Amino acid sequence: MALAGVAAAIIATVCITHASVTAPSRARSAIPAQPALTAPQILAGIGAHDVEVVFTSDVETNCGAAASDGGNGGCFHSATPNTIYLSPGLTPTSLRYLTLHEYAHVTQHRDGTAMDECEADRLAIAWGADPRFAHYLPTCPTPEDATR
Ligand SMILES: [Zn+2]
Repeated sequence: MALAGVAAAIIATVCITHASVTAPSRARSAIPAQPALTAPQILAGIGAHDVEVVFTSDVETNCGAAASDGGNGGCFHSATPNTIYLSPGLTPTSLRYLTLHEYAHVTQHRDGTAMDECEADRLAIAWGADPRFAHYLPTCPTPEDATR
């Protein structure tokens, strides 16, 4: 009984937190401005389909990244696998990174592969996100690590 409850809780809360996703302040001025596209335009640009974008400050829905707390967040919930949740008020560059990163989780879910943060960051960059906004990549194993 207790275990079933725990499993249900885990399934219901598969989401990704990107609280305070920002580039280092000293590097911020070096980041080239990216076109101020909307999330649907960003998704259309990579041929994404059948995905809805919901902007919300609700911390339950947005993995604790409330705009009121200064959090820039994105979230994917496996319970709503065709929807990504983003904080309102994102900068164009942050919006691009978070939209593409969360869409990567949509594709991981559709492909039946694991929710892999490193792979989601790599996909986001391949699709045009600024690598300096990659939240997880700095801690991801490199190909060199695999040969050690
Ligand atoms: Zn993620």
